[in-house]
Amino acid sequence: MKSKCLECLSIDYDVINFEFVSDKKKPNGEAIIIKDAEMCRCQKCGSEWMSGAQIKALNEKIEELSYESLTPARIAEIRESMPFKTKADAAKFFCFNHKAFIKWEKGYSSPNKSADLLMRLVARSEENFNFVKELHDKAFRFDLADYHFLVKAEAVQVDEMNEHTYENNNATRSKEDKSYLWMINPTDNTADDYAMPMAA
Ligand SMILES: [Zn+2]
Repeated sequence: MKSKCLECLSIDYDVINFEFVSDKKKPNGEAIIIKDAEMCRCQKCGSEWMSGAQIKALNEKIEELSYESLTPARIAEIRESMPFKTKADAAKFFCFNHKAFIKWEKGYSSPNKSADLLMRLVARSEENFNFVKELHDKAFRFDLADYHFLVKAEAVQVDEMNEHTYENNNATRSKEDKSYLWMINPTDNTADDYAMPMAA
């Protein structure tokens, strides 16, 4: 998207490079210096600014350079802290390639960001570990109750529908009692619009 001079509002500008030194550090403690950061310089008045896209690009570079992935030693520690008999068992649990831990712990390759994130999540709590174990036990069958935010979102939907129904029907039922939603059949709606999975 075209940018525009903040001082004189001219749309004639050059894109110039400059060196940006970030407050953030690389994982090894080195300063993060972006040598080819971009900004705009107005051809008319000479004032300089960064467009939204330039700021975003710079932030992404800094984020990438400051990102600290798990080291081979950490990966080994994390795996050994959990109840796996072999590296292959651990790999299976995480749905990684069966040689993943062998390669990562020897430093032949590194986990990608999502694998790194998954190890951190599973190692974080017994609850997270057990959830993955349960998923394996039930062959990854989907169960709404497993998903906190989804359960919450559905509850909000039911509440909103309740309020809507109160207004329309002047109902006097308890807000906690949602069972009647199954039975109503408003003239301007089909019953299907109100059908929803009931909590057991
Ligand atoms: Zn200008």
